[in-house]
Amino acid sequence: MSNLAWYSHELCFWHDPGQGSGYLPVGPGIEPLRQFAVDPDLRRAEGLVRLSGLLDLYTRVTPTPATDDDLRLVHTAAHIDRVEAASALGAGDAGVYAHVNHHSAEAARLAVGACVQATTAVLDGRFDRAYCLVRPPGHHAEPDRAMALCLYNNVAVAARAAQRHGVRRVLVLDWDVHHGNGIQRAFYDDPDVLYVSIHQEGLFPPASGLVTETGTGPGTGYTLNVPLPAGAGHEAYLAALSRLVEPAARAFAPELILVAAGVDASGHDPMGRMMCTSRTFHAMTVRMCALAEELCGGRIVLAHEGGYSAWYQPTLVMAVAAALAGRPEPPDPFLHSLEHLPGQRLRPHQARVLDHLATHHPLLAGGGPG
Ligand SMILES: [Zn+2]
Repeated sequence: MSNLAWYSHELCFWHDPGQGSGYLPVGPGIEPLRQFAVDPDLRRAEGLVRLSGLLDLYTRVTPTPATDDDLRLVHTAAHIDRVEAASALGAGDAGVYAHVNHHSAEAARLAVGACVQATTAVLDGRFDRAYCLVRPPGHHAEPDRAMALCLYNNVAVAARAAQRHGVRRVLVLDWDVHHGNGIQRAFYDDPDVLYVSIHQEGLFPPASGLVTETGTGPGTGYTLNVPLPAGAGHEAYLAALSRLVEPAARAFAPELILVAAGVDASGHDPMGRMMCTSRTFHAMTVRMCALAEELCGGRIVLAHEGGYSAWYQPTLVMAVAAALAGRPEPPDPFLHSLEHLPGQRLRPHQARVLDHLATHHPLLAGGGPG
């Protein structure tokens, strides 16, 4: 049995982008409803994991807020000041579609703090594996701007904190349905952080996460984007792992694996058009834990990112929690609505993306990165 840690903080659930509808604040033609990433949903996810008994398998850890020194591993001082100032006003946009409330600045520091402290604890051997149920999410946040609900880049700061702690090579896998432009940008010229993103082609940000974006300078070959066509599901995601992520990881030989583990690639998510189910997230987590065992002493940290289906997100988080704990797939009352759909099978137009990357990406095509 692995020694497991679960990082979460009540205040992360108090972050709220304010009155709006979907991902937009109230404005012309937009009647108030609710914005995504308000986190009664995430509290419900934690509640289901607790109810299932799975949370009892974890040591619960309450993180402390990230320090300025932590945040400056990735972010500029001006960016940190902007987030703090917007939050102090109690409302407003800290960047581009990154609305905040009074609690957001501290919630964002706690989200980063959770990821940094989980990573450090795993590197020190206090835990084998850790899961961070945090909000706001982080992977769109760039060094100098907040973006798309993301204030600070939780996983990017954790990767830099791992290096500060003595580790050199870090693999970051990002299976959020959107492209993690912020993580990519933080490490684009860095050969010591391999960033792999599996996302919906052309979704968000626009024209971001193309197969041709493979890094620059000494970082060439250490960014791997897998933009799957809309409608991809269980088999396409697992094929991306076996045909691209696993060989790339073996070529890279990481000392630590971090996963930006959004669950918005599910077939019930309003922000994406993918078809993943709880079985997909369970299987991907099992595979990444096995890869960590094979390559880096089992050291792996998962951090929540996107996930906007009020009803399905708890089941998906529970599936990840079960897999991380070495337990079988938990019950999924919604599975029947997705599993029979044809998008769950690997289709030729999806396989073409994998074939292209397997034969053209510098880290995979033979000869090593250029
Ligand atoms: Zn997302």
